[in-house]
Formats: sequence, structure tokens, C-alpha cells
Amino acid sequence: MQRAVIVGAGLAGLRVAEELRRAGFGGELVLVGGETHLPYDRPPLSKEVVRGERDDTTLKPREFFDEEKIELRLGSAAVGLDTVTREVKLEGGSALGYDELVIATGLTPRKIAGLPDLGGVHVLRSIDESLALREELAPGKRALIVGAGFIGCELAASMNSGGVHVSLVEPQSAPLASVLGEQVGELVGRLHKEAGVDLRVGVGLAELRGDGRVSSAVLTDGSEIEVDVVAVGIGSIPVTEWLAGSGVDVDNGVLCDEVGRTNVSHVWAAGDVAAWQVDVGGRKRVEHWSNAGEQAKILAGALTDTSDPDAAVQVPYFWSDQYGLKIQALGTVAAGDTVHVVKDDGRKFLAYYERDGVLAGVVGAGLAGKVMKMRGQIAGAAAIGDALEAASA
Ligand SMILES: Cc1cc2nc3c(=O)[nH]c(=O)nc-3n(C[C@H](O)[C@H](O)[C@H](O)COP(=O)(O)OP(=O)(O)OC[C@H]3O[C@@H](n4cnc5c(N)ncnc54)[C@H](O)[C@@H]3O)c2cc1C
Repeated sequence: MQRAVIVGAGLAGLRVAEELRRAGFGGELVLVGGETHLPYDRPPLSKEVVRGERDDTTLKPREFFDEEKIELRLGSAAVGLDTVTREVKLEGGSALGYDELVIATGLTPRKIAGLPDLGGVHVLRSIDESLALREELAPGKRALIVGAGFIGCELAASMNSGGVHVSLVEPQSAPLASVLGEQVGELVGRLHKEAGVDLRVGVGLAELRGDGRVSSAVLTDGSEIEVDVVAVGIGSIPVTEWLAGSGVDVDNGVLCDEVGRTNVSHVWAAGDVAAWQVDVGGRKRVEHWSNAGEQAKILAGALTDTSDPDAAVQVPYFWSDQYGLKIQALGTVAAGDTVHVVKDDGRKFLAYYERDGVLAGVVGAGLAGKVMKMRGQIAGAAAIGDALEAASA
């Protein structure tokens, strides 16, 4: 009987296991996880969990894994891979043979080199990290968030709603500028400022000070802020060090074809760690929730030879929750696109992204219906002029 091993018991790992069973894979299925938790959802970690509204984000109960005959090896990180003998080396010295291997080890937060090891300084990727950060928060506390990417922005909004005094620092000219461009980044920045967050753009963190525990932060403009808690959200890097020497090609992620195959036979990858071949622009890693499920379906179809050749290509989608607004991005939005803000009431907004004369994507805040109804026009590469004309009608 064939054995498929999935390394990484997060969203992508779980979805691959589910999709393999759905596609009729009847062999042994083993899900290896470095954490001791059942697979859980990460989006709530910077939202409901850190706000104290939820403690548990488990995706499927234990019975699900029994019913689907998915063997869980939790608390057992992979530390090496031998693609000749087809074995995954696990922490503690054991090895696990495979016929097919799926890499789904996700990301780990980027750290700022040279910072002293002080209490009160956090990163956020896991539920344990979210709960540890939450423990330190209370109304009146002073928090510094380093980096106004999605996680930094969501943390700022969550902490602000809990009465924490938040300073949010970002070296770029606006929050999320590298993802959504400066113009829309400024509309997001407006939300933070209106909520009372001390947003400082064009500056980074230079130094943390404290005796055992952080007490102040010095910024690159020389200013010093007194703080009780620091959260660093400066991006994440793919977890691939365990693949060293395996022959699997890695370059800012595991390099894959358009269905998740790596350069090594019987080795596949999906989710945040995987850089899949895309139609245009070569290989791309996507760090968003919907992508994990979509890739899992495609990969499972290819692995079991049951792919539906007519399966529709999905329009990329992600969301972020800040200050009671859902910020949504549909299509491929890029910082270099020409942005047309078609609605803006001072809080909610809608922007169309133009690339090569067509509507490449849409970003909206608090306007879910207006974002989602653009799916057809984005998929059909509508001329930007037509889209703008329809928006103003
Ligand atoms: C705080 C936060 C908020 C987010 N909010 C949103 C949002 O609002 N919208 C959105 O679209 N996306 C959001 N995302 C992104 C989304 O959660 C990810 O795209 C998704 O989790 C990717 O799933 P994954 O399985 O590839 O990676 P992960 O969920 O990171 O899972 C990887 C798993 O592999 C395990 N692992 C790592 N190394 C090893 C090893 N050597 N051996 C065994 N196991 C290992 C890890 O412990 C982890 O459980 C958010 C992410 C975070 C962290």
C-alpha cells in the first residue's frame, strides 16, 4: 500500500490530506506536525484570539482524523529529508518512509538581527505566541508594533480596540505599501490614525532598551518611545532549512511546477512555503489562506491522477480585518499598478488596480459586495476604461 507523508500540520497540510482522501487516495496518510496542537487556523490569531474573544481555532476535531484514517504525528518536527531512500528524518532520531511526500511547513517570522533578548518582545505566527502576547495586554498598556504589514496592522487594530496605546512604525511611506501600493496604503493608514494609533511612517526600529524586560524603543529618527510590550511583524520566511542537502530546489520557498511538483520525483509542496509556477511572472509564493486550499485541491488531483482539466482558475483573494472593516483584495494587486480610487467616504473605500490597460484587481474596505462582484471582470481581463465607466454609472 502506498504511503503519503505530509510534513506540516497547518492549513495547507490539512487541506492536502482532505483533498487526497476526496480524490480517492486509499493509501496510508501521515500528517507530521512540529507543534503539539491539532491543525488550527491562523487568521484569528491577530484578531479574535489576541483580543481575548477566542482561545481555540482548531480546524477539525480529532475524530475527523480517525474517520478519514489520517495518522497524526504531532510534536514531531521533520529535521531532514533523504530523497534517495525516501525517508523523512524526525526529531529524536526516527525516520518515516514515504512513497509520496508533501512539504507544507509554512513560514517562520523574520527576526531583527542584533536585538537584545528582553521580556515583552513578541512575534506572531503560532497560537502559543498569540496567547503569550495577549497575556501582556491590558487597557492603558503601551505597545510598539514594528512593521505595518497585515499582521502589524491587525495587531494595532486589535490592541487599540482593547484600550492599549499603540505606536505602529513602518519604514515605508504607508502601511501595506509594498503589497497594495502607497495610495491605498495611505487609506489604510487613515484608519489607524483616526482610531488614535500613533502611526509613524518612514522610520524603523533602531534599538530596544530595558533591564531584563523591554522598557523603551529607539527609532531610526532618534526618537525614543516608552513601551511595555513590543510586537515585531516584519514579514516571514519559508521553513525550508530541514530540506538542506535533500536535492529539493529552494529559492525563497520550495520551487514547484504549476501543480505543486518539485524538481525531485515524488516530492510536492503547497501553502505559504511553496513557490508555484504561475502563468506570468515565473514562480510565486502566496501567503494567504484561500491559496492553501486551492493549491491542495490541484496538488491532490495531480498526485492521484484525477485532475479535472476544466477546473476553473481561481481569482486570487485575501482579506484582513481592521477597525471593524473587512479589507479585501481580489485579483493580482501589485504596488506598481496604476490605482483608481472609485469610492471613498472617508473610511470605506474601493480601488481598481490597472495593469497593461486591464482591470488586474480590486481592493475594498467595508464594501464586500462591490469587491466580490468584480470577480467576473477580473477573470475576463476587462478593459480598465469599461470597468471605470461601470463604476461611475
Ligand atoms: C497571525 C496571522 C494572521 C493571518 N491572517 C490572514 C488573513 O486575515 N487573511 C488571509 O488570507 N491569510 C491570513 N493569514 C495567512 C494564512 O494563515 C496562511 O496563508 C496559512 O496559514 C498558510 O497555511 P500553511 O499550512 O501553508 O502554513 P502554516 O499555517 O504556517 O502551517 C505550517 C505548519 O507546519 C509546521 N511545521 C513547520 N516546520 C515543521 C517541521 N520541520 N516539521 C513539521 N512541521 C513543521 C508548523 O508548526 C505549522 O503548523 C494569517 C497568518 C497569520 C500568521
